[in-house]
Formats: sequence, C-alpha cells, structure tokens
Amino acid sequence: MTQKHSYAWMDFLWLVFLAGLAVLEPRLEIHKQLTLLAIGVFQLFEYRLLEHLPQRGRIYSVIIKILLGTLLVDHTGGIFSSYYLIYFVPVVAAAMYFDLWATLVWTGLASAAYYSFVFWNLKEFIDVNSGLPMYEVSAETITELAIRSLFFFLAAVVVNRFVTENRDQAQRYRQLAETLAETNRRLEQAQEEARRSERLAALGQLSGGLAHELRNPLAVIKGSAETLMRKVANTDSITTELAGYISSEVNRMNALVTRFLDFARPHHLEQREEQVPPLIERALKAARDRWPDAKVEVQRQIAPDLPKLMLDADLIERVFTNLALNAYEAMGREGGVLRVGAVHVTDGKRGVRITFQDTGPGIPAGLREQIFNPFFTTKETGVGLGLSITSKIVDDHRGSIRVTSGPGKGACFEVYLPEGGAAEPAA
Ligand code: ADP
Repeated sequence: MTQKHSYAWMDFLWLVFLAGLAVLEPRLEIHKQLTLLAIGVFQLFEYRLLEHLPQRGRIYSVIIKILLGTLLVDHTGGIFSSYYLIYFVPVVAAAMYFDLWATLVWTGLASAAYYSFVFWNLKEFIDVNSGLPMYEVSAETITELAIRSLFFFLAAVVVNRFVTENRDQAQRYRQLAETLAETNRRLEQAQEEARRSERLAALGQLSGGLAHELRNPLAVIKGSAETLMRKVANTDSITTELAGYISSEVNRMNALVTRFLDFARPHHLEQREEQVPPLIERALKAARDRWPDAKVEVQRQIAPDLPKLMLDADLIERVFTNLALNAYEAMGREGGVLRVGAVHVTDGKRGVRITFQDTGPGIPAGLREQIFNPFFTTKETGVGLGLSITSKIVDDHRGSIRVTSGPGKGACFEVYLPEGGAAEPAA
C-alpha cells in the first residue's frame, strides 16, 4: 500500500519535471510539448509493456525512448538543443535492464542518434543567400559532443554497477531464503522420523510386553482344550467340536502373538562390511520368485562407486525385500515399472541412498506416516508389519527411511544407510 503510494508520488514528480521542460523555451514549439507528453505517458505505462513482453519489452522500451529523445532534440534545435540531456532517459533505462556490455552498446546507439544531428543540421542550416552551411563542424564542436557523450557513458556505468550489485544481492537473498526453506523442510522431516522411531519403540515395548503376558495363558488354554478333546473324543460330538474351536482360535491368537513378538523383538545386529548391490539383487529375486507372472519391468540405476557399509546383511536384505514386495503388490495385475536406484551420498553426511520407486497408485499424503505403524494395512490379507519392521531395522542401523508419492506417480521409498553403520550395537 505504502509502496504504491510512493510510486504514485514518483510518477507525479516525473510529470512535474517534464511539465517544467514543456514550459521552458522554445515555448511555442507544439511538437516539443507533444513529444514531452509522449515521453511522460510512455514512462507511466512502460510497466505494462514489460509485463506483456518481459524480454523483448525492454529492447522496445529503450528504442522508443531513444526515438522520442531524438524527436525532442530535433524539435528544440538539433545539435544546438539544450534538451540533449533527455538521452539520459534511455541510457539509464538500458543500464537498469541490461548487463554492462549491452548497456554500453545502447549508450553508443543513443550517442549515435545524437551525433546524427551534426549531419542533419549541416544540411538544414543553409544560408539562403550564399547556399553554404551556416556553421561548420569545428574541433570544439567535436570536443563538446565527445564530452556530452562521455557523460552518457559515465551515467550508464554508474547506474549499471549499482543495479547489478542490487540484483546480485537480491539473488543472494533469494538463494539464502531457498536454502533456509530446504533446511527447514529437512528439519521437519528429521523430526517426523524421530517421532516415528519413538512411536515405534514405544509400540514395540507395549506389544512385546502384552504378547509375553498372553503367551502363558494361551499355552494353558491350548493344552486344556487338547486334553479336553482327547477326553471327550468319540463320546460327545458337540463338546469335541467346541474344544476344536477353542484349539484353532488359540492357534490363531498364538500366530498373532508371534507377530507381536516379531515386531517387538530387538534386533541384534551382526554387522559386517557389505556391498549394497548384491542385497538389492537378492531382494529383487525374492520378489520375482514370489510373483513370477507379474508384468513388472525392473530398471536399475545403481552407481558403480558405492562404498561398502557396515550392516547386518540379512536384516537389510529383509528391508529391501519388503520394499520390493510392496512395490510388486502395489502395481498388481496391471504391472508397471520398478525403478531401483542407489547412490553414494557425500553432502554433509556420508552413506548410500537406495530408492524403490514404483508406478502403482501411490500413497495418499494423509497415510504417509501411518503406513509405518504396526498392523496398519490396506490389503485384504495384509498384516501391516512389513514397513514398521523395515523402519525399525533402518533405525537400528542409524539410517532413515521416508516415502514420497505424488498423485498418479506411484510411491517412492528412500532408504539412507550411513557409512560406519550403527555406532554401538542396538539393544
Ligand atoms: P502390508 O504389506 O502387510 O500391508 P506394510 O507395512 O508393508 O504391510 O504396508 C502397509 C501399507 O502401506 C500397505 O497396506 C499399503 O497400503 C501401503 N504401501 C506400502 N508400500 C506401498 C507401495 N509401494 N505403494 C502403495 N502403497 C504401499
């Protein structure tokens, strides 16, 4: 609001100064007034031209200003005109819009337009009686013109330098703002990952404790049901059937408890220096063996310079297998492309970044954190433990896992594993 206000004032001042030029001698030269009016109006609406044609508009703008300036000088006495200073308008405009070399070229053009009056005036100012030119191009005239022209160049360089500095500074601020935004984004991601680790650790403890407590009573119920079944066998069919239900349901609960424990069990990492690509290959083979008929094309982008990492090969292979299986399942019958990438990360932290990107339906933004929760599944026969275990294994290796997914772009899981592995064995 304030800015607009100050711009309006500047425009007003601009018009006042032009009006000042209009009322000075030669006062009665209507063409002069009209040209000044045109200069004023063009300056006010120049921004529209630049809005429509950001690149070419600048060129047109400087050309128009040189032409209008030349017209003004022409109507005010040509080479004798005091209005030659109007050439500062296109010179300053060029210095603001272009780089140094282009500015110098434009300034040269403005000077040339001014110099052209030497030639025109020679023709125009002819003595009626003698038929000879009324003035000659003396060394003084040339010096005077050179001085004027050099002042144009001086102004051009000063303004251009100032504008370039400003532009560079604005660029630096923009870059700084972008870096800050990127850092902020990474921080938020790291916070989210830390929250997930805490959540999974707490859930692991809870489910582990619960599963442990359930195991003994379940064993007692199962033993009792089996004894009961043996006792009433061939005597009471209803009791046999009910005892059978108890036994089979207890089996189901046992399977569930085993999964709880599987999720809760701390992994004892057996770390060794390992190459990552063979683990990826084994995982891809496992997925292919699981769905030999799937129409999935696997594309690999594995960097050749990957370092060896300290890791537990079995567990990391399990991570990659989970991701590959999920990708195959997500792409389903229609199939698609699974892009597997691995690059060496050296910016700040050092390690290997492995990506599994599929062309399935992707993951809605609202579910991107939930999929890591244990027992979260959208599959009919899913258990929902794959990603939570995957996430825990990666955490144990002091790595990170995140998912990105654009609408219609499939899902992309990104695993980062640090060089050096886990500093101390995970509990
Ligand atoms: P499960 O495979 O048993 O469902 P996971 O923990 O491996 O368990 O996955 C949890 C959920 O995350 C899946 O049910 C699915 O909704 C979602 N998911 C995982 N991977 C993908 C993928 N590549 N594309 C789309 N959704 C996925």
